[in-house]
Amino acid sequence: MMFTSIESLILRVKERESFMVSMKSAVVTGPGPLTVERVELNGPEAGEVLVKITACGVCHSDLHHINRIRRAGVAPEPLILGHEAAGVVQEVGSGVTTVQPGDHVIMAFHPQCGTCYFCRRAQPQICESPDFPERAVTGARPRLLLDGKTPARQGIGVGGFSEYTCMPEGGVIKIRKDAPLDTVCLIGCGVTTGVGAAINGAKVEPGSMVAVIGLGGVGLNCVQGARMAGAHRIIAIDTLTSKLELAAKFGATDFVNASEVDDVVKTVVEMTDGRLDYAFEAIGLGKTIEQAFNMIRRGGTAVVVGVTQDNVTVSGGMFLGERTLTGSLYGSTNVHYMIPRLVDMYMEGQLMLDELVSKRRPLEEINEAFADIEAGAVARSVINF
Ligand SMILES: [Zn+2]
Ligand SMILES: [Zn+2]
Repeated sequence: MMFTSIESLILRVKERESFMVSMKSAVVTGPGPLTVERVELNGPEAGEVLVKITACGVCHSDLHHINRIRRAGVAPEPLILGHEAAGVVQEVGSGVTTVQPGDHVIMAFHPQCGTCYFCRRAQPQICESPDFPERAVTGARPRLLLDGKTPARQGIGVGGFSEYTCMPEGGVIKIRKDAPLDTVCLIGCGVTTGVGAAINGAKVEPGSMVAVIGLGGVGLNCVQGARMAGAHRIIAIDTLTSKLELAAKFGATDFVNASEVDDVVKTVVEMTDGRLDYAFEAIGLGKTIEQAFNMIRRGGTAVVVGVTQDNVTVSGGMFLGERTLTGSLYGSTNVHYMIPRLVDMYMEGQLMLDELVSKRRPLEEINEAFADIEAGAVARSVINF
């Protein structure tokens, strides 16, 4: 679909004390390719924030979502994916106190409400906020309308493949203004998930030995988190040589090409003399989760990072010897603290982000960006608005 004007319109509807934004969005409407459509966004309502999106990373979780829809062979409600987004606050709804128009922000796909059972017991990463994972059509009017009539949803909480989004305040994190939004947007998902899994989830100690299976955007950040935590050896495992080379830049010290060895577990056990402290699995497959668990030492910890794919089952393994198999969601952290701190660390040269961005594309090339990650050709594509 073509548009005569790229600029979106913001119309104030004074009697409703709300905004209607007409914007370009990449929309999933069924099993086929995404299409760029004109979508109306209504908001913000009380406690919500309207953000003009500057850039949004293309994450594997979006691809899982699309593939699920494709496999099911049915058209869902129109869905706007994209959850690794950064931008500038345009308007805030009543009661919003932590951000104001003009603030630079990163969106947290899993808003942390601060008041539920898990937020109050210091596990905000598993907040029970109903805003996750897909924001429903909320309020008196539909939040999003495709072609002015069909209600649509924000997939994975954000709806970042779009010129604007409207989020609950708990999912909009203010950051410093001198940070480049089209790079620090990656902190919205993959970076926080991977670095946080190592630092907060596993609590990797200086001197420890770590393995990371799967070197996409999240896995590379597990490598990076282990490096920042002071790990002594970091073993990178993938089937693509290009990813192993990239992992070297992020701090990996040892490399296993899983397509070139008969037995990945045996290889790592031999490399570490059976003393591997932590294994991170950043793919989400049963086979690689079993590998992670079986390569750690007695008392070691295997961490499944991020989202497992459909119908994953794990069998075998030995829990004798106090081995732990655990999950880590969103870096096992309070994103309100962690995201601004990671931005600081990038600006001070301690966190690598530029090396993650393999390609920048306009919204119109969203399908090519997904084809790239499906082929394993990039660590991250970023959609620039
Ligand atoms: Zn993601
Ligand atoms: Zn909560």
